[in-house]
Amino acid sequence: MTTTDTTTAASTTASTPVSHWVNGQPYAGNAERSAEVFNPATGQVSSRVALAGAEDVEHAVAAATAAFPAWRDTSLAKRTAILFTFRELLNARKHELAEIITAEHGKVLSDALGEITRGQEVVEFACGIADLVKGGMTENASTNVDVYSVNHPLGPVAIISPFNFPAMVPMWFFPLALATGNTVVLKPSEKDPSASLWLAELLGEAGLPDGVFNVVQGDKVAVDSLLTHSDIKAVSFVGSTPIARYVYETATAAGKRVQALGGAKNHMLVLPDADLDLAADAAVNAGFGSAGERCMAISALVAVGPVGDELVAKITERMNNLTVGDGRRNCDMGPLVTKDHRDKVASYIDAGERDGAVVVADGRTVTPNGDEAGFWLGPTLLDQVTPGMSVYTDEIFGPVLSVLRADTYEEGLELINSNPYGNGTAIFTNDGGAARRFRDEVQVGMVGVNVPIPVPVAYYSFGGWKSSLFGDAHAYGHHGVSFYTRTKVVTERWLDPSHGGINLGFPQND
Ligand code: NAD
Repeated sequence: MTTTDTTTAASTTASTPVSHWVNGQPYAGNAERSAEVFNPATGQVSSRVALAGAEDVEHAVAAATAAFPAWRDTSLAKRTAILFTFRELLNARKHELAEIITAEHGKVLSDALGEITRGQEVVEFACGIADLVKGGMTENASTNVDVYSVNHPLGPVAIISPFNFPAMVPMWFFPLALATGNTVVLKPSEKDPSASLWLAELLGEAGLPDGVFNVVQGDKVAVDSLLTHSDIKAVSFVGSTPIARYVYETATAAGKRVQALGGAKNHMLVLPDADLDLAADAAVNAGFGSAGERCMAISALVAVGPVGDELVAKITERMNNLTVGDGRRNCDMGPLVTKDHRDKVASYIDAGERDGAVVVADGRTVTPNGDEAGFWLGPTLLDQVTPGMSVYTDEIFGPVLSVLRADTYEEGLELINSNPYGNGTAIFTNDGGAARRFRDEVQVGMVGVNVPIPVPVAYYSFGGWKSSLFGDAHAYGHHGVSFYTRTKVVTERWLDPSHGGINLGFPQND
């Protein structure tokens, strides 16, 4: 196989590329391209990943299409039994998956376990699909006429996921897609591709028939093939806003149902009456957990009134105790996912400094507990940030927390509502009336009150507003069930001589 580098090599330690997964087994594929996969904590290339071409996507979609009729007709009891077994296996072996995630993404092991647990919640929700997917029934809607609805699966569906949650984001979607009777082609991020194969293998061990869940590794070429493939009925995408918009426009133009979740700039509003210790803890946890590579990370803190200086001091004090290093070494924060990304985030700190922000804590000078060649950037706090600075206007997706000042609640709210993103936000206050007002007035899809990362539990749905989501359906919860099903309504009567006769008028109830 000839290979094409998509990133700069450090050194190659493995020669067999991470493969695709089709029809219940690894599939090497026909494409001649592959990309390097790094261990971000060492800076070394740990493997390569195959990058699918259109032919490989065709092979995976053909498997999902062939498996669909039998899976659709498999009883609800059997489908949920398989998901239940999958849940048990996942729960027992999640440490294996966490190690795979840490090795390719860099996040610390406890955080990798956390993402698996949040994904597992959706599996548990999907185990109750029998109740969630049932339709309604009305007897005698008209004399001797019954009406009922049934929810059908769509067919083969595509899931395209980002690097930052290689297990949780696929699990936001595939449990419900499978439980409702669809078959799946997952295209994970090429930066951390191995978790998807582990999940595919585990689904097989749980009893999922071959071809029901498939994985194609790849980049834009694979995504484009999925978005326009006539047998793919729906697309669930998560990633940055420009790509989410592109995916939404391309796949809807090809006649598909699409939910495309995009980027974020999440604000935390701290009112003068807030518990500042609680707020400082929350800002540090939500700003620097997973090295800020979370779509629900807090990246802009808006201090209202006189609390700014005290809050910055409390946050800085806490940041001094954070340890940065190899995710396997019991540190608080790991490296960034690639060198390019690390350098891009660092360049935002440079720009913020040039624009007049005060660098209170500087992650560029971090001393990590890890290999020197890792992609390190420590937690960074920028104070006196103003709305025109690029560090504020852009999604940075790294461990950089910007502090802005507002004189009033209204000024803080206006800042949040005029931001193009609307994924998550939080207010910190002890005033119930102010919190209630914020909850009502803020133009954001997920809101926390004294909770900094308000990721909804599995029986609600996850989704932002504005440029953080394209499409009508949020992920998982009841939105997920309706996204992966279409409803048929049946109006039925059983023949009786009294119903004979010709009448060309519009049917009316009697
Ligand atoms: P990304 O947009 O670069 O990639 C996401 C997916 O799209 C990957 O599978 C990638 O291979 C594919 N892709 C990349 N470029 C493409 C192109 N030109 N055409 C077609 N497909 C392409 O995102 P990322 O860097 O992997 O993840 C980080 C981003 O994801 C951040 O913006 C973050 O906010 C966002 N995110 C959002 C949520 C959410 O729920 N809203 C959750 C997690 C991550």
